Amino acid sequence: MVNKVYLIHRRDDFRAESQIVEKVKNLKNLDMILDTNVLEFKGHDSLESLVLKNVKTNQISHLKVSGCFEFVGLLPATDFIKDLGITDNNGYILVDENQETKIEGLYAVGDVVVKKVRQIVTAASDGVVAALDVIRKIR
Ligand SMILES: Cc1cc2nc3c(=O)[nH]c(=O)nc-3n(C[C@H](O)[C@H](O)[C@H](O)COP(=O)(O)OP(=O)(O)OC[C@H]3O[C@@H](n4cnc5c(N)ncnc54)[C@H](O)[C@@H]3O)c2cc1C
Repeated sequence: MVNKVYLIHRRDDFRAESQIVEKVKNLKNLDMILDTNVLEFKGHDSLESLVLKNVKTNQISHLKVSGCFEFVGLLPATDFIKDLGITDNNGYILVDENQETKIEGLYAVGDVVVKKVRQIVTAASDGVVAALDVIRKIR
């Protein structure tokens, strides 16, 4: 859709699936700018350029762009339960092996819970585990 895309990444490596990384690296209209942070967004009526800093050399540079898609990590949307005392320091919900929080009868599933792998299949799996425990308790 565009002539040129820059992928700016703070490290020189990616955690994403290697197959996808390879595919992206081979795109003809994509340039990777690695070991780099974006310091500033500059422009008047719209975005015109970015100020970049290489984290290894500390070198500052300017890059002309007409748009930018930001993706900087994830935050769990758990503000509305923050007073319940069931989240860790990062806002993720602590659950036991049945997906139940320390408040009896209150369950949490999916990306908002403390766990290692956050994928569709693990979110769905959490749901089944919780549902079966609810059924067991009701019975
Ligand atoms: C860029 C990206 C790429 C991904 N790629 C993959 C992949 O290739 N394969 C894979 O398996 N997984 C992938 N994932 C992870 C996958 O999307 C998640 O693990 C999965 O969607 C988690 O499901 P969930 O139901 O827990 O949360 P979500 O899908 O985030 O659903 C939560 C829902 O709750 C709603 N919500 C939030 N707060 C409230 C509230 N207070 N009241 C009511 N509703 C609320 C939200 O709007 C949202 O609709 C990717 C995630 C991202 C961000």
